[in-house]
Amino acid sequence: MPQIPQSINNLITHFSKLPGIGQKTASRLTYYLLHKSEQETNDFGQALINLKKNLRLCQTCFNYSETDPCHICQNSKRDNTIICVVEQPLDILAIEKTHYNGLYHVLHGALSPIDGITPEHLTLESLKNRTEKNPPQELIIATNPTLEGEATATYIQRLLEPVKIKISRLGFGVPMGVDLEYTDEITLSKALANRK
Ligand code: ZN
Repeated sequence: MPQIPQSINNLITHFSKLPGIGQKTASRLTYYLLHKSEQETNDFGQALINLKKNLRLCQTCFNYSETDPCHICQNSKRDNTIICVVEQPLDILAIEKTHYNGLYHVLHGALSPIDGITPEHLTLESLKNRTEKNPPQELIIATNPTLEGEATATYIQRLLEPVKIKISRLGFGVPMGVDLEYTDEITLSKALANRK
């Protein structure tokens, strides 16, 4: 094993912890950065620091945002009579590519008792409070078409039964077992249009 400087080794270790990055890619990225100017690597590091420092969760929809409420929740041009419930903030990026113009609610996961993810781990209580306080005309449940996503959708339907609002589910379209974030915008637009 050749002696690698600690600073290089350290960064390789951090890169290799990222999803989809093996040891080899981690090394390549690290040596790539070594060719960059100090200004560029500083900017890169600062971007990482700011990621956590400047971001918080919007206390209405629980999306990541630099402001609370977030720019979607406080945008008066958006249709606030409709809320789309998604598992992850990334799902919002996918749905924003369609013509959807309503609000969101991010659960930050899906129910999975095997993995120890129970209702308290998700933002379900906040969803209930939010819909009770400001009932939308419609709630679209856009959890992933997986066992966990389906279980979560069923749970939400039961949870919000006392709140008399129209609850719909994406009309799939979206293939079973595939995460929303990987669904193309045409399929997703259709799934939104065919909601039931
Ligand atoms: Zn928000």
